[in-house]
Formats: sequence, structure tokens, C-alpha cells
Amino acid sequence: MDINSPITELSGVGEKRAALYKKLNIFTVGDLLCHYPRSYIDYSSPVSIAESQLNEHSVIKARVIKKIPAARIRQGLVIYKVVVTDDSDNMTIVLYNNRFAYEALSEGEEYIFSGKVTGNLLRREMNTPIFIKASEPQKLRPVYSLTEGLTSNMVITNVTQALDSVDEIAFADHIPHFIRQKYSLAAFEYSLRNIHFPADSNIAEAAKKRLAFDELLTLQLGMFLMKSRSRTLTGCKMSGGGGLMKEFQSGLPFELTLAQVRASEEIIADMCRDYPMNRLVQGDVGSGKTAVAAAAALFAQKNGCQTALMAPTEILARQHYKTLTDLLAPHGVKVCCLTGSLTPKQRKVLGEQIANGEFDVITGTHALISGSTEFKRLGLVIMDEQHRFGVNQRARLAEKGENPHRLVMSATPIPRTLALIIYGDLDISVLDELPKGRRKIETFAVTDKLRSRACGFVKKQIDEGRQAYIVCPMIEEGESELVSAKGYAEKLAKGEFNGYTIGILHGKMSSQEKDEVMGRFKSGEIQLLVATTVVEVGVDVPNASVIMIENAERFGLSQLHQLRGRVGRGQYQSYCILVAGAVNDEIRERLKIMTETSDGFKISEYDLKLRGAGDFFGERQHGLPEMRIADAAADRELISKAQNAAKDIMEESPDLSKFPLLKSDIDRMFSSGAAEAL
Ligand code: ADP
Ligand code: MG
Repeated sequence: MDINSPITELSGVGEKRAALYKKLNIFTVGDLLCHYPRSYIDYSSPVSIAESQLNEHSVIKARVIKKIPAARIRQGLVIYKVVVTDDSDNMTIVLYNNRFAYEALSEGEEYIFSGKVTGNLLRREMNTPIFIKASEPQKLRPVYSLTEGLTSNMVITNVTQALDSVDEIAFADHIPHFIRQKYSLAAFEYSLRNIHFPADSNIAEAAKKRLAFDELLTLQLGMFLMKSRSRTLTGCKMSGGGGLMKEFQSGLPFELTLAQVRASEEIIADMCRDYPMNRLVQGDVGSGKTAVAAAAALFAQKNGCQTALMAPTEILARQHYKTLTDLLAPHGVKVCCLTGSLTPKQRKVLGEQIANGEFDVITGTHALISGSTEFKRLGLVIMDEQHRFGVNQRARLAEKGENPHRLVMSATPIPRTLALIIYGDLDISVLDELPKGRRKIETFAVTDKLRSRACGFVKKQIDEGRQAYIVCPMIEEGESELVSAKGYAEKLAKGEFNGYTIGILHGKMSSQEKDEVMGRFKSGEIQLLVATTVVEVGVDVPNASVIMIENAERFGLSQLHQLRGRVGRGQYQSYCILVAGAVNDEIRERLKIMTETSDGFKISEYDLKLRGAGDFFGERQHGLPEMRIADAAADRELISKAQNAAKDIMEESPDLSKFPLLKSDIDRMFSSGAAEAL
């Protein structure tokens, strides 16, 4: 059977089941083989009934001693009970409306059940367990993502048949032999068979690593290819960067950090080449990315080119407008701000001025890419907080110019190895240094018990004239963000913060509403801002001196670091209070890292170690093809391995012509169109 055969070639898969598979994006036999299990149920080490913990998930091996006749409780509800025993105790298995499972259990026969144990110390029950015969050799059962109507058993049956009947070629190893040897990789066929039906969890892990490696390698190679493929000339080649940094520095109220100077010089060098710059500036919160953008814009202006700087929100766009005006006005650079909130008339006037070249730097929101906006010699486009934008939006801004230079800025520090794989198509400048004289944000981690003292501390700051953020608990399942943020703010307004002016910010608000609230917070009218994580991006309110984060244990460290960066932006000593709703050793260790370190790069290294790469892949959102397995399985070691392998392969054959199988993997991964550079 061909891997490209439709899924209906498998026995038992008719139109109906094919439609279910379609919902999971599975169309061919090959797609099914790549539908890797989410996890496994381990039937290999059962506990005894007596030892099982109440209200916990357990795996129990027991013999059926009695099948109680079905009880029809009411229309549409039939309950089946089966009494089982091991040497330690009895337990009742309860099945709802599942005659099929009931009939599969025979008196006298031994099974292994997996499910939650309920009841009390005297009478134990397990409701709707999954089970296998104790005699079955396969003790690790895959758990697949499913859709209504499709069961794990169906998928298991279909995958089994597919593995048995596909052509040899399905198991061909796409990774050349010398790489497999050098990096001691498990064979592909072995991995593909064992990811579905592993004999034990070590084997499952090895299979997962190998398949994740394949994905990371393909991604890295794709990124390298994108970067090296022939580029079209830019219409805005620039020159004369020599004295620029000196001149820029002379107009500044502060001294640029070495990192800022280095990044600016890299940018200037890029813009003097024949083809467009494609560069990412990565820097911790407060590292001064805006000044680097300003230097680039000044250089563009000297070369008679316009710069467009696009920000994800109106507040940020206006903030940039103000900062860039301050930094660039001394050099005669004219800055304006184009957002959606202008009246049609204002918009028309400003639009004409921009098109006539009366402004050199145009900051703005999505309004910049609207059809009616025209530029005059747009030479440089800059995206702030790039992960908030989709690929299309970036491409559309670039289309407003003649293959202009592109700069993206990100405030999420990412470990170097990971940055190479996620942003491997871009050149990267790193701002790894904070401006001198920054005060460290004092960070405390406390448990729930100290919450009211923490609130007291926040109040004291507000009473001294400062402002505060409280990041509200993450949304419980089933509860909407709106309800949770609102309800929480109301609770605070009635309780600890009675009498203070409180504002709310959450993701379900329109961007206009959000901007309105942020505006009132910026102006000082709102004293306490209760927010969900939407507050994490880029906002600068120097008077805010304390942020309290509830349920801090549920956030990634990098995210906590971003949130913490909302304070400490002015002259005041600032504080971050992490309130943990639950505590264990791991949580304690993670929060301790936050209290000890303020270096975003170090923190993201820890995050990678503790949580894997998943969060980071999300950072580049729309820009990256979807990973099936890598984001769950990738760790630092695997990523470096894939990276080195990619370099070895490119060295052997820069256009990959020697490795057609790998080339086709890349084409497939990137064919969704998602990962078009920038
Ligand atoms: P981010 O990298 O988070 O975007 P910003 O560009 O908003 O940081 O800069 C944060 C603050 O630091 C701004 O108020 C800016 O004026 C200031 N700043 C930037 N560079 C320096 C520097 N070299 N020395 C002192 N202050 C600086
Ligand atoms: Mg910024």
C-alpha cells in the first residue's frame, strides 16, 4: 500500500470514518502514520486495589468475579456493574450505556483497568475505565488525539494495519547514514513503529526524540535555505554610515550601551548592501530597542528614505511616536503617527502628507498597511513585538516599498540555539546589556497565606502616589476571560482595594477599549490596573512601581519576566510580588529563580530546561510551520544536535541536491505557505 493512498484503503475505514479523520487533517495512510500518540497508558505496573489512592488515577490488575445484570435507571441511561477482585480487595467497575465494554468482560478472566478510583475506604469503584486483558503482551497503549465518534481503539486498529501493509519506502530513512552515525540516532523505521506501539517507556522516549529530531532538522534546513536563496535587489541601497552613530549619540540625553551601538552598526552595514536587510533585534525588556530603531531610521532619512514602524496597539504606536520624536527631532527628522482613531478628514490630510514625503518616520498600527496608505521611497520597515503580527501583515508592509529593508524587534529573550532554529532565516542582533544605573526590581515569592500582606504592600505604594498592576488568576476551564477578570476586579474593589480607582484590561476587549483603559492608566487616573496577560506587551508607565501576579506558578518563567518588565521603567524602586496558589518543590525552585535573576536570557535558558521548547515556538506564532512533535520533545541537547547536523548537511551539499528526500521533507513542511520569511 502506498503512503499516499487515501485512508479509505484501510479495512474498516469507510466514508464515515474518513470524514472523522478529515477533521484531524488525516487524509492519507501516511498522514495516519504521522498521527503520533499524545501519551500512553502504562498497564505495566499496576497497583493493588487496597493500595490505590482514592480520587486518583490508578492502573489495577483484577479478576472478574461477578457481572451484575444491567440496570435501566431511566430512559437513555443503563448502568452495568462488574465486581472484580485481586488478593487485596474487591472493587466495582461501573459502565454507563456501554454494553460493548460490559460484554467484553468475562467472569473468571483477569484484566488491567485504568481509571479514577472513587468510593470510600470500604467500597471502591472505578467508573468507565479503559482496560485490556492481563494476558495481552502490549502493556503500553497509545493515547491519540481524537474527535467525537472516533475512538482510540479504531485508531489503534487502523494504525496497526497501516504499519503492516505500507510499502517498504514508507520506512526509508531520510537522514543520510553519516549523520545517523555521527549523532547516534535511532533508525527511522524503528522509531515510527515504536512511537505507536512501544514495548516500554524508554523505547517510546527514544522514538519520540528521533522523530522530533527529524522535525527540528527539517525546520533548521528550511530556515537556512530561505536565508541563502538568491535575493532580489533592494530598491533602497544606502551608503555613508561612517559618522552616523557619533552624530546620533550627540543628540541623546543618555549614553548608548555598547550593545546598542553594535546592533545599530550591524543594521547600518546591512542597509548598505545590495539586497534587503532581514534582521531581528532581540533584547530584554528595557534594553533600549527603540533607540536602535531610531538610529536605523536616522540613517534611512539621511539616504532620503522613509521609515515605517508598526506596533501592535495604538498605545504602543503613540508611545513610539513620542520617543522617536524626542530622539530624532534634534536631527531634523520629521515623525508622525498614523492610527485607526483619526477622523477620516485627518486621515486624508495625513495620508497626503505621507505620500508627498513630508514625513520621514511614520509610526502606526495596522492602518499603515491599509490599501489607501501610500509612502514615498519607503526604505525601511520595522515591526515592534513581531510575534503579534502575522506573516501576511509583515509582507504587506514591505510591499509598500521597493523591496525595503526589514527589521523586527522582539522583547522575548530566546536562548541562542533556539533562536537559530526559530529565526534561522533572519540575521540576529542581541541586546544583552541594560543601560547603566537601572535598579533591580525587587522580587518576592509568597504563598496564598501572605496575600493580604502583599495587598497591604501594594496599597502602600499607591498611597505614596505610585500605580500598580495586579495580574489576575488565569481563567479556569469553562470560565470566560471576561467573567474571570471582571469578577476578580469586583472582588478587589469591594475588599482590599475599596475606595481606589480600579481599571480592568482583558483579551476580550476591543483594541479601542483596551487603548482607552491604558490611556487612563498612563495618565494616572487609574491607580490599580487589574489585567490578564494581555498587559504583557511593551507598555511603558514609569509611575507604576509594583506588579502582583496571582497564581504565578501557572506561568512560564519567560512570561513572568515579561510581566515583571511592566514596572521598573521610571525613577522609582520597583517591586514584583509572585503569589503562588500551590506549592511544591518544582514551583519553589522556579519562583526562586525569578527572585534571584533579572537576566532575561538566563531565565529563558531555565524555561527551556524546565518546560521544553513549546512556549518558544509559540513566540513566532504565524511565522512557523506547525510542529507535530518537536515542541513537546525538544530540549536544548536535541536542538543543538539538529542544528549541528543541519550545518554538516549544508556543508556537504549547500542546495541539498545530494539529499532529495530531505529536500522534499522541507518542501512539504513549508508548503503551507506559513513560513515565508518575515
Ligand atoms: P525596550 O527594549 O523594552 O523596547 P525601550 O526602547 O522602551 O526598551 O527603552 C526603555 C527606556 O530606556 C526608555 O525610557 C529609553 O529612553 C531608555 N533608554 C534606552 N537606551 C538607554 C541608554 N543607553 N541609557 C539610558 N536609558 C536608555
Ligand atoms: Mg519596546
